[in-house]
Amino acid sequence: MDLGIAGRKALVCAASKGLGRGCALALAREGCEVTIVARGPEAAARLREAGGRVTAVVADVTSPEGRAAAPEACPDPDILVNNASGPPPGDFRDWSREDWIRAIDANMRAPIALIRATIDGMMARRFGRVVNITSSAVKAPIPLLGLSNGARSGLTGFVAGLARSTVAHGVTINNLLPGEFLTDRLRSHLAAAAKQAAEPVERFVATREKTIPAGRFGTPEEFGALCAFICSVHASYITGQNLLIDGGTYPGTY
Ligand code: NAP
Repeated sequence: MDLGIAGRKALVCAASKGLGRGCALALAREGCEVTIVARGPEAAARLREAGGRVTAVVADVTSPEGRAAAPEACPDPDILVNNASGPPPGDFRDWSREDWIRAIDANMRAPIALIRATIDGMMARRFGRVVNITSSAVKAPIPLLGLSNGARSGLTGFVAGLARSTVAHGVTINNLLPGEFLTDRLRSHLAAAAKQAAEPVERFVATREKTIPAGRFGTPEEFGALCAFICSVHASYITGQNLLIDGGTYPGTY
């Protein structure tokens, strides 16, 4: 299927590895001019292998300077993929105001600020796609990830309101909710959990995979493929949605 987005300009945040990288590679494969953002200077090298036209910006999207640098490097993007690290796990009794501000800055305010910087241009040009990488925790909260549950739900509520006002101008806004995807982040979470359970990592990982109805973790490639479709010309009637991609883990009917 031709996704109809060749030549479109895509700004993909937090994309030197993991799910963001999966999205950047899928969009580059469709012929988009991709600009990725990551804090580490190795980002450009990691993405060069993608071929296509990929530019890398070294910036922290949770800081005001980083958020300014991203659209400066990719003015007037047609596609914006919002992403950043998730907050750490813990007990809400231990979280200070600063912990909450950090989580809200990364997982709520940063995407809203980048939407604010780019959406009016998209609407004026009559085409735009905003994809926010959130988490399955928005639909089925994970008790230990209260900072994530809270901050991401704030973004989800904001998007639900905004998405209905942009779609008539050709601009859709959707959230992708990953379940468990085998990225560096998940690998380090699994290693820590295995250590806590005093189990060998391989056995712990195999047991965990069996709890997923698909029988395996997701791959950044399949996550990227969904992102590319949502950014395509074929998805112009999909907006304000929270699309779970979790191998069947969420057990509900709706
Ligand atoms: P990952 O493998 O650790 O990759 C994170 C990427 O984001 C890296 O390229 C990192 O590069 C970049 N990054 C992180 N913080 C950034 C910032 N402030 N500014 C710019 N770039 C930043 O993580 P992932 O597994 O792909 O997870 C991506 C998001 O999805 C996270 O919010 C995570 O909580 C969420 N999620 C993941 C899963 C999963 O199973 N993997 C499930 C649910 C939700 P630098 O470190 O160089 O900046």
